[in-house]
Amino acid sequence: MPKPTLRPKADKPRALMQYRRLGKTELNISVIGFGASPLGDVFGPSDAEEGIKAVHLALDEGINFFDVSPYYGLTLAEERLGQALMGRRGKAVLATKCGRYGVNEFDFSAKRIRLSVEESLRRLCTDHVDLLQAHDVEFGNVDQIISETIPAMRRLQEAGKTRYVGISGYPLKVLMRIAQQLPVDSILSYCRYNLMIDDMDTVLTPLIERLGIGLINAAPLHMGMLTERGAPDWHPAPPQVRLAVREALAFCRKQNLDLSELGLRFCFGYPRVASTLVGMSTTEEVYRNLHAFRSPADPELISMVKAILAPVANVVWPSGRSENHD
Ligand code: NAD
Repeated sequence: MPKPTLRPKADKPRALMQYRRLGKTELNISVIGFGASPLGDVFGPSDAEEGIKAVHLALDEGINFFDVSPYYGLTLAEERLGQALMGRRGKAVLATKCGRYGVNEFDFSAKRIRLSVEESLRRLCTDHVDLLQAHDVEFGNVDQIISETIPAMRRLQEAGKTRYVGISGYPLKVLMRIAQQLPVDSILSYCRYNLMIDDMDTVLTPLIERLGIGLINAAPLHMGMLTERGAPDWHPAPPQVRLAVREALAFCRKQNLDLSELGLRFCFGYPRVASTLVGMSTTEEVYRNLHAFRSPADPELISMVKAILAPVANVVWPSGRSENHD
């Protein structure tokens, strides 16, 4: 993979980072967000000490937004992020989730949500999070999410356990259905806006803007698909998507380009989201992603790569209960 030549200057932290307000909240979050699922070894084993260094480097360079969940590594990611933020919690805007606890383990009841937050706060070594999100709402009963889960999260907000309340998920329409029925502060959408797909922009973003909800774009590398290492075994995209990405990787290699860097630039340049959450667990990735952020996107190259990926553009997979599919 081509190495970035620019290393950020340690004596000028924050100078080049940009921040955007998350919807109507008082949270000003960095355009690059630190996705902490790799700290839970979701993409393969990671080194705990290196993960802590990555979090510290990110903070020093002005990345202030961190997203995690009890689901990532079955609590490992929260534990590691909590350790990394010890003594630095005040510098971070910390988001976690509730409702999802395993591949097929979901509980959106008010009782579990209350317990879940207490457990997360213990692991994260803090007395509150800045954003609590109902995790992968498409796996829940939408009526329950609306009448029980989000009201329970609002009560936790009143109790000072979280500053704001949001939802996350993959299908777009279920996120919209929920947001139209009761107020939420933010929506995290993943794998719906990157080099492979852009329907978040046409379907979800207009509603979000109308309602003044904060929008977070997660998984700019399509959950590891747009990388030399390739997608993990558990990746739900159909095989033809992997094949098309191999062609795009071969094209980039010939031009001495890094497909991941190109993909990140494409997402970081999208102005309609508050933050793009990229999964990281090493200082090398933090450096690479800061480099991608600081270098301008080349529209011509992006068009060429998108043309290679065009046969599989906007391919989606089913996620959650059938009544919640798009
Ligand atoms: P991603 O698209 O960010 O890809 C992450 C993978 O890419 C990891 O293997 C990482 O090591 C690798 N990577 C990172 N930078 C790289 C670089 N410059 N070059 C090569 N490889 C690089 O996928 P993700 O981690 O699933 O998504 C980002 C974050 O968004 C998650 O960590 C999580 O916090 C959040 N997220 C939330 C949901 C949800 O709420 N349902 C779903 C997906 C993601």
